[in-house]
Amino acid sequence: MADRAGQLDDADQLAGLRGRFLLPEGIVYLDGNSLGALPAAVPPAVADAVQRQWGTDLIRSWNDNAWWQAPLRVGDAIGRLIGAAPGQTVAGDSTSVQLFNALTAAARMRPGRPLLLTDPAHFPTDQYVADSVARMTGLEVHRIPVADLPRFLAARGDQVAVAGYSPVDYRTGELYDMAATTDAVRRSGALMLWDLCHAAGALPVRLDELEADLAVGCGYKYLSGGPGAPAYLYVARRHHAAFDHPLTGWNGHAEPFAASAGYMPAEGIGRARIGTPPMLSMLALEAALTAFDGVDLEQVRAKSLSLTGFLLDCADRELDGLGFTAATPREPARRGSQVALRHPDAYALVQALAARGVIGDMRAPNLLRFGLNALYTTHRDVLTAVRQLRAVVLGEEHRKGRFQRRGEVT
Ligand SMILES: *Cc1c(COP(=O)(O)O)cnc(C)c1O
Repeated sequence: MADRAGQLDDADQLAGLRGRFLLPEGIVYLDGNSLGALPAAVPPAVADAVQRQWGTDLIRSWNDNAWWQAPLRVGDAIGRLIGAAPGQTVAGDSTSVQLFNALTAAARMRPGRPLLLTDPAHFPTDQYVADSVARMTGLEVHRIPVADLPRFLAARGDQVAVAGYSPVDYRTGELYDMAATTDAVRRSGALMLWDLCHAAGALPVRLDELEADLAVGCGYKYLSGGPGAPAYLYVARRHHAAFDHPLTGWNGHAEPFAASAGYMPAEGIGRARIGTPPMLSMLALEAALTAFDGVDLEQVRAKSLSLTGFLLDCADRELDGLGFTAATPREPARRGSQVALRHPDAYALVQALAARGVIGDMRAPNLLRFGLNALYTTHRDVLTAVRQLRAVVLGEEHRKGRFQRRGEVT
């Protein structure tokens, strides 16, 4: 396997991109699906934002350093990675907040349709927000697995206002067919809302081409924008005029500095701005996105599949008989950019593995997750991770008490 890892890395056309990240020595980092690694462009950009832009230019920075335009400028930079032409994506707030905005606006755009569909396996925040929006708007939430959507839509599609789904299952890493799902939802007259947290930056997403209606996502997973980086909201241009934002903050006003008494939304995606953005995080995210400059997402996808496939192969060989089963589908077309393995001792194994310098994460009750960001992960990293995991299990290192105690964040 070592030979194969070496050959695959030597042939890797994206190998040079690893130099765009600052990775700590001696660590194999496979948790970029929770918090992307630090792009080398970020520290100088943040230092400049703090010292020169804030420290010296002060309030003038809103004009002189183009702070005011940043949410739309950064939105367009994200748009390039998710197949959105300029002027349809805004950066800001958190995924949870953007979900609330998108679902509420969607309900307002489809009056008379009483149902909100979401995935029973969706990330918790997506389900919690869907329930709350439903209570506020009078919609009824139905939790329909992706595989059952066509049948449900055929029967009751004309009652559906919006369907909110993720192309990638955050636990198993299974990738769904975005095109077929979007098509089925839109043919029923409902709006398709995608949560791209585990897709953006990891694989090509073609929102415009698919004619998706709405999308949200975070800035800190595969986009590597830093802890708590601004999220984003995409609204297809054809919906801008009808997009009635629930959070009518002054930044989204047509004339934000006119201090008019009533709210009048800006033209275009600018109406999806809310309040003053966190500029330090916004500028960190903008710098982070330069790691994608000149990068072909088709190549990212090809490498990502090579990495996830190699991890599954390594697991087959090195972990055989040690109590693991793969939760991630074997078929390349059904894999996102992570591999999840089931094991009853998942939590302690992930802790003991981290003590050996291999960082992944765990999702209850029994999943070990390994996120493989193709911009900075190598096949050698993958092999090291699997071999270290084997050593942990064989040495029963995870049985030590300190690896059993849970921190606040798992
Ligand atoms: C990571 C993730 C979130 C995170 O929401 P925040 O508001 O950014 O904490 C939401 N939804 C999905 C599908 C995710 O993967």
